[in-house]
Amino acid sequence: ILEINHMKKSFDKLEVIKDISLSVNEGEVLSIIGPSGSGKSTVLRCAAMLEKMNSGDLIYLGEYAAHNNTEGKSVYMAKKELRRFHKYYGLVFQNFNLFPHYTVLKNITDAPMTVDKVSKKEAEERAMVLLKKLGLEDKKEAYPYQLSGGQQQRVSIARALALQPKILFFDEPTSALDPELTGEVLKVIKELAKEKMTMIIVTHEMQFAKELSDRIIFMENGKIQEEGTPEQIFSTENTRVKDFIGKFA
Ligand code: ATP
Ligand code: MG
Repeated sequence: ILEINHMKKSFDKLEVIKDISLSVNEGEVLSIIGPSGSGKSTVLRCAAMLEKMNSGDLIYLGEYAAHNNTEGKSVYMAKKELRRFHKYYGLVFQNFNLFPHYTVLKNITDAPMTVDKVSKKEAEERAMVLLKKLGLEDKKEAYPYQLSGGQQQRVSIARALALQPKILFFDEPTSALDPELTGEVLKVIKELAKEKMTMIIVTHEMQFAKELSDRIIFMENGKIQEEGTPEQIFSTENTRVKDFIGKFA
C-alpha cells in the first residue's frame, strides 16, 4: 500500500532522515520505535506530505506521489494531482488536534462533507457507526473540552476513519494520556488491527508494539538500525536496541 524509497530530509543544515526505505503491505501493522529526536515523527509527516522529502520516492498503491529524479531530488506531483493521495491515509497525533469549537459529531463529519462531498445525512450515519464502535455514541453533542483525553483521542481516531483511509498513521497516540486512559486507546487500535486495518504506529508502548505489530522498525539518528518481527526485535543482540527496549521494560 505504501512504499518509501531512500527518503532523506533535512531542516536547514540538519540532516534528520538519512536514507530510509520501508514498505507496508495491506493489512499489516508496522511499529516504529526509537529514541527522541531519531526522526520518527518526521518519517510520518513526510509520508503524510505535511513535510516534503528532499530526496526519495513516495508511492501509494503503486502510484508515485513523489519520485527521485536523476539528481537525487524528490519531485512531487502537481498539487491538484496530490489531492488524490490524501484520501489514502489518515493521521492521528499525540495531542488529538480536534477542532475545539466543533461538537464530536461535527469533528467527525466535517472532512467527509467538505473533502469527499458526502451528504450530511450519510456523513452523520457513518459517524454514528464509528462512535458506537469506539464506545462514544452518547458523546456526539459534546465539545472536546468536555471529554477525557482518552475519549478525545478516540474521537480523533473516528475522525481519521471517517475518511475511509487505506492506511492509518499514529504518532505516539497515547503519550499525552494518563496510564489508565492509555489502555482504552490501545484497545481501540488493537481492534483495528484485528479488522486488518493497515497501520504505522510510532509508539513508546513496547508491550503493545510487541503484541500487535507484524514488523517493528528501530530508528536512531535518522536511520533504520534494525527491522524485524517482534520476536526478532525483542531478542536482538544489537545492544542499542536492547538498551532502548530495556528502558521501557
Ligand atoms: P520524539 O520521540 O521526541 O517525538 P522523533 O523521533 O519523533 O522524536 P522528530 O520529531 O522526527 O523526532 O525530530 C527529528 C529531528 O528533527 C529533531 O532533531 C528535531 O529537532 C528536528 N526537527 C523536526 N521537525 C523540525 C522542523 N520543523 N524544523 C527544524 N527541525 C525539526
Ligand atoms: Mg515524534
